[in-house]
Amino acid sequence: MSNSGIIIKHTTFRENDEILIIFTSNGKTSLVAKGIKGGKRKSLCEVGNWIDFDYVKGKAFNILTEVVLKEGFYYQKSKYPFHIFYLCELLSKFERENEDEKYIFHLLVESLDNLSRKPDLSIVFFNLKFLEYEGVMPDLFTCPRCHESLSKNIQNVFYGGSIYHNTCTDSFNGISVDCIKLMRFISSCSHYKDINVSSDCLKECIFITCNLIEEFFGLTLKTRLYFN
Ligand SMILES: [Zn+2]
Repeated sequence: MSNSGIIIKHTTFRENDEILIIFTSNGKTSLVAKGIKGGKRKSLCEVGNWIDFDYVKGKAFNILTEVVLKEGFYYQKSKYPFHIFYLCELLSKFERENEDEKYIFHLLVESLDNLSRKPDLSIVFFNLKFLEYEGVMPDLFTCPRCHESLSKNIQNVFYGGSIYHNTCTDSFNGISVDCIKLMRFISSCSHYKDINVSSDCLKECIFITCNLIEEFFGLTLKTRLYFN
């Protein structure tokens, strides 16, 4: 089979058909899966699954012909119910003209795979690497108001996509030293590393990085609310 991708969304289309949105290393593609409802292929074509597939050109939509399951990430959903759907919702809503998505595709596969180890850590890695790749990572070392180092301050403030000294802004959204340390560490890694971090720190880091993604890309992600 000549194509490979992760199903990030499916919607009903006519009575027994669905439209699948598939994220591949060449970007997103939409295909109609005819007669999928109630058919054998339904269980393969769930959100989060990695499939190999073929299609033929149709008038309005391309039509799925062959499909083989490569990795059934969806079947693990009971262990980390929100994580798979968060990653897929983010990529289904993130729109841009780009035909080379090799980096994001590999990041998605790696992150889905890492959910079986530490699901929350995998989401933080994904968010930070995504922000970095898109060129919108905030400065984790310097306060944008006074241009002094953040490292000596115990309590900093996260506001409008930047991190400030608490004395440099009127906002009260604190960001912990541990959260900043974790974000710095992940920024310094080229790949996922299994590290020990408290669940509170991971929750905070998910909150901050999801905020950054929503803010920079103008998205509203329903699934991120599950992490709170
Ligand atoms: Zn400052």
